[in-house]
Amino acid sequence: MVLTQSRGESGLQYLSESKEAPQSRSPNQELLPLTASVNSSDRLEIGGCEVTALVEKFGSPLYILDEETLRATSSQYRDAFERYYPGESQVLYASKAWSCLAVCAIAASEGLGIDVVSAGEIRTALQAGVSFDKIYFHGNNKSREELKLSVESGCTIVADNWHDLETLADFGKLGVSSKTGGPIRVMVRFTPGIECHTHDYIKTGQIDSKFGFDPNSLDRVFQFISEQPSLYCVGVHAHIGSQIFELQPHDDLAFVIIGALTKAQSYGLSATEINIGGGLGIRYTKTDDPPSIEDWARTVCTAVVAACDRHKLPLPKLLCEPGRSLVGTACVTAYTVGSKKVIPGVRTYLSVDGGMSDNPRPITYQSVYQVLAAEKMSAPLTETVTIAGKHCESGDILIKDAKLPECQAGDILVVTATGAYNYSMSSNYNRVPRPAAVLVRKGEAHTILERETDEDLLRFDRLPERLRTQK
Ligand SMILES: *Cc1c(COP(=O)(O)O)cnc(C)c1O
Repeated sequence: MVLTQSRGESGLQYLSESKEAPQSRSPNQELLPLTASVNSSDRLEIGGCEVTALVEKFGSPLYILDEETLRATSSQYRDAFERYYPGESQVLYASKAWSCLAVCAIAASEGLGIDVVSAGEIRTALQAGVSFDKIYFHGNNKSREELKLSVESGCTIVADNWHDLETLADFGKLGVSSKTGGPIRVMVRFTPGIECHTHDYIKTGQIDSKFGFDPNSLDRVFQFISEQPSLYCVGVHAHIGSQIFELQPHDDLAFVIIGALTKAQSYGLSATEINIGGGLGIRYTKTDDPPSIEDWARTVCTAVVAACDRHKLPLPKLLCEPGRSLVGTACVTAYTVGSKKVIPGVRTYLSVDGGMSDNPRPITYQSVYQVLAAEKMSAPLTETVTIAGKHCESGDILIKDAKLPECQAGDILVVTATGAYNYSMSSNYNRVPRPAAVLVRKGEAHTILERETDEDLLRFDRLPERLRTQK
């Protein structure tokens, strides 16, 4: 990707540099949603809606989700797997990136299945209309209740450890059975022993990981499943991490996974599915340069076909489960500027009305974001400021040394690429209500998540009688 300075140092530089039509761009290589544009009042529009008008109507801070971008990523994954993989394929949305009814429903309407990691995510997917046979349940410590719900709903369980397998085998004996009447569908997750370059907290492929079976225990695992009539092993799964910019790890992973699949089959298991995980990175800042969705899919498909060739294996059903690259770029967060603190010769802090409660990634992973002024898109970026959140934590800094035009209280700032692991990791720290989220498309905006209220925050509080003050 060529980074040009031709538009000068203004907010316009965050608009796409691609000459391709929006539908053929890979959204994970963009900073802004595909529909982003600047109107005649020099204001940013997403999905045909002016950001400042959205904030006026729906309040601040506000998550703004662009439906066209989410549909583009979903269909690009789906189409690329259909194009490059001669066997059957299924793309799943890793809903932990942003689990809510609207996002799950859009992904499902594009033909995607859903990967879930809790009873809450299972219920969200089911209520969004996702078919149970396209729901895969993950997690390194699923509760018995969660396992029961997933089995009875007919979902496939991705067994992460012996605790999962023993509980499921126990269900067989207790007569807890799948909605389908057949045996419980189990996929086996193992740690593939593949390292990748990303933040330590989001690496999962290395042997020292809390996720998945140790590859050295796979013989015992497959032997165990083969002795359980109530369990049906559909295949094997591995995931190496998140926000990955290299293609090689997934190339390597295909060989490791096919090796594990062959092993499962050697125990007489019918295992015919493999899941290669997610992990494709997105562009958070101008210097990020992830591969396109199409290149990632082609790499995975080609590697799986080659690995099957080598093992003389019929092509398994190929699944993948991206999260970040499906929904990350589709959303931006709008904030309102409040106080400004100038420390001469040191730093200028510009504080906004949200922060680590709606976007915990900077404080958790030292993630870097891009910010722009929604009403001054072509104004020169003359100021270097640090965008601070409103929380009582010095580390609550959204962006260090951001370049902006001169801003003051009341200005609307937009932080880009906030669709993944923002709302889903949000909190009520400092008893701050979560922002609303709106879905925009062709000039229309609909609330998909209501803004929380102060009453919501007190909903679960109970005051024991003896603590009540007498008036
Ligand atoms: C988090 C996770 C994903 C999604 O990862 P992304 O980097 O968001 O694509 C997929 N599979 C598993 C098992 C995960 O834990």
